[in-house]
Amino acid sequence: MACVSFPYDAPVSQTLFDRASLVTPGGVNSPVRAFRAVGGTPRFMVSGSGPYLTDADGREYVDLVCSWGPMILGHSHPEVIAAVQEAVARGTSFGTPGEGEVALAEEIVARVEPVEQVRLVSSGTEATMSAIRLARGFTGRAKVVKFAGCYHGHVDALLAAAGSGVATFGLPDTPGVTGAQAGDTIVLPYNDLEAVREAFAAHPGEIACVITEASPGNMGVVPPLDGFNAGLKELCAANGALYISDEVMTGFRTSKAGWFGVDGVRPDLMTFGKVMGGGFPAAAFGGRADVMAHLAPAGPVYQAGTLSGNPIATAAGLAQLRLLDDAAYAKVDAVSAEIRGLVSEALAKEGVAHTVQAASNMFSVFFTDRPVRNYEDAKQQEAFRFTAFFHSLLSQGVYLPPSAFESWFVSTAHDTQAVERIAAALPAAARAASEATA
Ligand code: PLP
Repeated sequence: MACVSFPYDAPVSQTLFDRASLVTPGGVNSPVRAFRAVGGTPRFMVSGSGPYLTDADGREYVDLVCSWGPMILGHSHPEVIAAVQEAVARGTSFGTPGEGEVALAEEIVARVEPVEQVRLVSSGTEATMSAIRLARGFTGRAKVVKFAGCYHGHVDALLAAAGSGVATFGLPDTPGVTGAQAGDTIVLPYNDLEAVREAFAAHPGEIACVITEASPGNMGVVPPLDGFNAGLKELCAANGALYISDEVMTGFRTSKAGWFGVDGVRPDLMTFGKVMGGGFPAAAFGGRADVMAHLAPAGPVYQAGTLSGNPIATAAGLAQLRLLDDAAYAKVDAVSAEIRGLVSEALAKEGVAHTVQAASNMFSVFFTDRPVRNYEDAKQQEAFRFTAFFHSLLSQGVYLPPSAFESWFVSTAHDTQAVERIAAALPAAARAASEATA
């Protein structure tokens, strides 16, 4: 870890963190929140409004995490809050079908053309886990191809060379996943079609599916090279395997139809989460009707959930999606481009080697001057500079993801005032990055 001083304190957050650490492993309910990659005290947030978060010490931050993607309209959007309040007043869970889940499924099917049928679940992890089970059930095959640096949630079979928290901690794998669970997973370098071709040749008739992030954001933002997704689709089709595009992060964020709306490559199955839940636990998987027909109760592949299609979550998701029209995406894309430009300009001024990579409005900053095309490239960056950069921005009221291996997220609520606050904080942060030592 770089030698970084923390020129500010957060006494209330620290007290909460101490309390949390007694009753919760590491004091958090999802590892990256603990700030282990950057050090210091994780901020306990108490409220969010538009582009801002307020912590337990009463400090306000411009939020560039947006709950890791979902809050694309900013925090506490009045129409989303109203939809939630209206739904809550009618009850919180019925364990029966309800109209809200039908409307949300119809919205997803209407937006994303390859999705003919969709099943709602509660987390992205559940979505990818279920999609893989379905692919295996449909094809009668066992093996799954994934790419190093792509994170698909904490599904046992997919926690091999995963990105996100696993990338942050540099864990190649995790205890608790048995050889049997991971043994059918083939991990290949991202953006390398030749490796995929070789895997199909080495395992004829054995590969059920290839799962990939539609445009990865969990090793930092590493878009697919031209033709990569189309090549995957072709290789899958030629070899009787399903092509699963994980759009948990990109879905309904990178365009109205997610990354499919950007590259037009038609997956057999897709997974969604984050934006479609409006800040509530809602996720989904869907795709070809003939494949989805294998899912219980229509078919033999079992999948279920007590809170699947929860009325509050579906009301929030639907309200958010209905507000996400072309103008909203144009706004998010524009503010993303503006912030990327400001970051790059500040770092260049201080002579800090960096590469800003974007996929529509998702972006991240790698502290290297070389393009990052896969996980190996991402690991070559000078992550210690990110640590200094992060803490300088945090101390000035700008909240970045606490890891160099994550996407930054913006929203329609990031207005001129929020951008000006970021711009004002960047020169000192760039200086801190330039002065940082490993
Ligand atoms: N897939 C991708 C691409 C993700 O980015 C994530 C989470 O960040 C997941 C799956 C898992 O989603 P969840 O955290 O809701 O389980």
